[in-house]
Amino acid sequence: MSDLLEVRGLSMHFPIHGGILRRQVGTVYAVSDVSFSLREGETLGIVGESGCGKTTLGRTLVRLYAPTAGSIRYRGREIAGLARSDLMELRRELQMVFQDPFSSLNPRMSVGRILSEPLEIHGWTDPDERDRRLTELLELVGLRADDSRRFPHEFSGGQRQRIGIARALALEPGLVVADEPVSALDVSVQAQVLNLLAELQSRLGLTMIFISHDLTVVKYISDRVMVMYLGRVVEVAGAEALYSEPRHPYTRALLRALPGRRDASLEEPRRIEGELPSPSAPPAGCAFHPRCPHASEVCRTDLPTLRRIGESEGHTVACHLADEI
Ligand code: SF4
Repeated sequence: MSDLLEVRGLSMHFPIHGGILRRQVGTVYAVSDVSFSLREGETLGIVGESGCGKTTLGRTLVRLYAPTAGSIRYRGREIAGLARSDLMELRRELQMVFQDPFSSLNPRMSVGRILSEPLEIHGWTDPDERDRRLTELLELVGLRADDSRRFPHEFSGGQRQRIGIARALALEPGLVVADEPVSALDVSVQAQVLNLLAELQSRLGLTMIFISHDLTVVKYISDRVMVMYLGRVVEVAGAEALYSEPRHPYTRALLRALPGRRDASLEEPRRIEGELPSPSAPPAGCAFHPRCPHASEVCRTDLPTLRRIGESEGHTVACHLADEI
């Protein structure tokens, strides 16, 4: 499999304006210096607490935001600096599935209109072709062709997310970024939507970035998992390796906190102490040091960078003491 996406040194910082003159009084360092590659057909899970930057990263990758710095190469083409007017073609290739299927679907449009609109915008001028594609999409996500006449409020939460997935797939995108796609759903419905995504992965060879705060869900769907903390990547590994041999104290604490996980080898406390610091004032050195039970002097001053660790291929960690913990 070749690399579909190559991200290098990606940062997304937002200015904070204040005072009568609306001067810039600070910066939110939402995503800082993120690098990774994604192969065709691969699913990369991104996990971390709320506020860790995972949603901002997803939105920056599909160019809903213009990044502050860094490179995003999609199929070998640099897209980080593309102007808004050049993004139209990219929209077809890079699609998102959003967390809340209700607010992301226009309540005044029938499902048929919701799914036909992107086709029309992207040049599907023949109404018969559009109708055929509409039926195909509805069946692909487990809905009926005559559901196209109904409106979003007539569907359950799980069905609405199926419509959201169908809309994301309408133009046969190269990459789908799914941002917490099941977290607003009941647990029983979550499993159905996850199974649908897993089935689409294998049927269509989807390349996907799956963002979630729920490590169990991420493990189920991902080939590799990337853990983020306060805008930075702290660990990357194959899904199995990350769950069986987590090396970063933050990853270990996240896993230790999972219900039913009573692995005495994970010495981190069950709850991570303290609050996530503000992304507008990240701590110096390792940003996790105020909450880390292993923090030493070097952690307070030096920023750890990702380095290879362990036996598994592609397992990297950003922790000064990962070899000793
Ligand atoms: Fe903890 Fe230090 Fe590792 Fe950061 S670098 S996770 S503070 S041990």
